[in-house]
Amino acid sequence: MALNEYRKKRRFNVTPEPAGETSVARQANAPALKYVIQKHRASHLHYDFRLEWKGVLLSWAVPKGPSLDPAVKRLAMHVEDHPLEYASFEGVIPEGEYGGGTVMVWDEGTWEPEQPDFDAALAKGDLKFTLRGKKLGGSWALVRTHGYGGYRASVGKSSWLLIKHRDEFASQEDIAAAQPFSAATGRLLADIARENGGNVQKAATGDPADVVRPTAAKAKRAPRPKPEIRRKAAAPRTRRR
Ligand code: MN
Repeated sequence: MALNEYRKKRRFNVTPEPAGETSVARQANAPALKYVIQKHRASHLHYDFRLEWKGVLLSWAVPKGPSLDPAVKRLAMHVEDHPLEYASFEGVIPEGEYGGGTVMVWDEGTWEPEQPDFDAALAKGDLKFTLRGKKLGGSWALVRTHGYGGYRASVGKSSWLLIKHRDEFASQEDIAAAQPFSAATGRLLADIARENGGNVQKAATGDPADVVRPTAAKAKRAPRPKPEIRRKAAAPRTRRR
């Protein structure tokens, strides 16, 4: 795992994204492995799924985001490793830069491999793991659909599938639509764009149209407000005589 490809694509005097420390081997007494999903309104809306492993964040771009339904397999394009510091990045990448647009920490927490040899599983392209996030939990799989040559050779070239295993965290809820707020700051994409000099209109196209959001002041004060969505109420029926 190395950050060369990550750094090659970015100009750190322009983008607020972290350059990342030199990758270091994980300490035996280190805290649990980080997990994060960043919602990213770039040229296309997608969700960046990241798992800490050996000093970097293994990363996949998931166009439709995760599904809690075990029958639904979500395409996940393998992308370059990101620095660990990226896990807390929420803000605006300037237009014209790589990935230009608004980034939200959509979910965050920790994860645990379910396989004794995770490196072998990575090389094979068949991962099983448990997520402990604010929105996602339970057992999941990431499976490479085709392509050989191991984990490194697969970056940028291979499609994987993100799949929820059947357990008590599985459901039919459309979680990407139902929980559109930042897990870190409670903001919508449009809020993040507005507060960081980004393109608010473009960012807003990644937010659900029917969200009733907390007032700006409330969103700033509360670190983790309960996401609240109001479905369009049916028009009241007027009785005709
Ligand atoms: Mn992205």
